[in-house]
Parts: sequence; structure tokens; C-alpha cells
Amino acid sequence: MTEMRPVQDQTAVKAMPDAATVTHVQHWTDRLFSFRVERPATLRFRSGEFVMIGLMGDPDPKTGKQKPLLRAYSIASPSWDDELEFYSIKVQDGPLTSKLQHIKAGDQIILRPKPVGTLVHDALLPGKRLWLFATGTGIAPFASLIRDPETYENYDDVILTHTCRDVAELDYGKELVENVRNDEMLRELMGDGLDKLRYYPTTTREESPRMGRITDLLKDGTVFRDLGIDSVSPETDRAMVCGSIGLNTDLKEILEGYGLREGANSEPAEYVVEKAFVG
Ligand SMILES: Cc1cc2nc3c(=O)[nH]c(=O)nc-3n(C[C@H](O)[C@H](O)[C@H](O)COP(=O)(O)OP(=O)(O)OC[C@H]3O[C@@H](n4cnc5c(N)ncnc54)[C@H](O)[C@@H]3O)c2cc1C
Repeated sequence: MTEMRPVQDQTAVKAMPDAATVTHVQHWTDRLFSFRVERPATLRFRSGEFVMIGLMGDPDPKTGKQKPLLRAYSIASPSWDDELEFYSIKVQDGPLTSKLQHIKAGDQIILRPKPVGTLVHDALLPGKRLWLFATGTGIAPFASLIRDPETYENYDDVILTHTCRDVAELDYGKELVENVRNDEMLRELMGDGLDKLRYYPTTTREESPRMGRITDLLKDGTVFRDLGIDSVSPETDRAMVCGSIGLNTDLKEILEGYGLREGANSEPAEYVVEKAFVG
């Protein structure tokens, strides 16, 4: 009996020059999963960048031709890793993720080899404390950055905040932080550097030890009390933001209120922002 290929006709993907083989898939909730693919030997990227990935779309009913269906995805693994990791939403009627959520080890995806993005160290001026503000799958670029030794070489204090609606949606980040702290290779590279990493998870809907939107918790001073920090200042603090457009807009306003200016690859400054998704 031939093996079932539920995702799509794999011969079509193999014919693509940018195919990458899936090595591992993990489902976290009915809305979230992560997966790893083999890294093309030629793919170079900076921790925090995103690439276009996807699958072949359904055949055109008239011509039978298939076109690639591509979406932007942050690379969740650090730049030194042999494999590439991605952390994904499952949108039930989403053109890509309604299919992508069914991938299995051995399947192939399309991976366009042009990483880009602003959530990179190069886009920030030197500082002492780095804030990484994420909601939902917006933690993906920070999963890359907190596994990169450069993050701890550059900063004395690294704070990862992650806000989700429900507790189970925090699991990927929780396990990630535990693994980073226990990773022997990172420990060897970093010595005590990893102790600089602080994790601040919050939920907005389901009951959890720390509840609320990060924007509200910043505005009312809860974050600073919890972390023992006086305030945010442009002399010492740098920030990266990755969430919905609404979250990004609100956080930009808050950060600019502290005197931080938005940076870019071409003009580094005190904070950078990227959309976790459009819409
Ligand atoms: C720079 C950038 C980086 C991205 N990185 C990631 C990533 O690392 N992981 C990831 O899962 N997605 C990421 N996205 C979103 C991704 O490109 C797709 O939108 C997502 O994979 C859904 O694709 P789709 O074709 O199934 O549905 P789409 O037609 O693309 O989206 C349908 C709707 O689903 C919602 N949606 C889409 N993505 C998300 C999400 N991540 N979280 C919550 N709601 C969402 C939006 O309301 C959207 O209008 C990124 C987007 C951008 C612009």
C-alpha cells in the first residue's frame, strides 16, 4: 500500500528548488504548533529575522497548474542552529495553515531563502537592558534571540514578556525558557550569562498567576514592581515588540512616552517593532 500524503502532492514540492524537509512537528494546542525543517547549507540569517515559507496551492481547476502559497514566518531557532524552527498558528480557514497544520516529519515545505526583518540586534543601539514584548505567535523571533549568545553578550538584563489569552498558549514559551536555562551548550558558551534572562508570562482571559495586557501592566507600574525596575529610560533600555497591529501601536506609544525612538537596520535606535501577523 502506498503511504498517505495528507498535506499535498509531494512530487510538486520536490520539483521546487526551495524545498526543505520537515524533521519534527509538535502540537501545543488546537490553535498552535511548532515544527523544524532541515536547514539549507546556504541559508544565512540573523537571529530574529523572518522568511517566506509555504506549500503548493491547490491545482487550478482549469489548467491543473499549482502555484506556491507563501506566508511570512519568523525563524524561531537561533542563527547557529543546524535546523530551522517555526512556531505557527492554525487558522481553520486560512489558505496556508489549514494545510500546514497537517505536515509530518518527512514532508517537504517551500522555504524561500531571503531572510529579512527588523527584530535584530543590528537595528538597536547598545544598551544595558533588553525588553522583548510578545503576544501569541509573536514570541517566535524572540525564541530565536533568547537562544543566541549575542543577546547575553550585548545586555546585562533580558526580559521576555509573553501575553496570550489562555494558559496553554504559554506552554511553548515556558518550555523554551526552561530549555534555554538548561541547555548545556548555551551554558558552556555563556557561563552565568543565561541568568540574565527573565520571563514574564501573562494571560488576558483564562485565570493565571499574572493576568492582564502587558500595556496595562506597564502603564499601572505592575511590571516594574514585579521585576524590581524603576522605569524605562532611553539611556539604558532597548525594546523589541512583536504582536498584533493594535498591540504594536499601543506599545510604540508607551515606549515613545519613555523617550525611546524607533530604530531600523539602516538607522539603529532604542526600539524596533514587527507585526506578528496582518489583519
Ligand atoms: C513579518 C511576519 C512574520 C510572521 N511570522 C509568523 C510566525 O512566526 N508564525 C505564525 O503563525 N504566523 C506568522 N505570521 C503570519 C503568517 O504570515 C500567516 O498569516 C499565517 O501563517 C496564517 O496563514 P493563512 O494563509 O493560514 O491565513 P491568512 O490568510 O494569512 O490569515 C487569516 C487571518 O488569520 C489571522 N492570523 C494570521 N496569522 C496569525 C497569527 N500568527 N496569530 C493570530 N492570528 C493570525 C489574521 O486575522 C488573518 O487575517 C507572520 C506575518 C508577518 C507579516
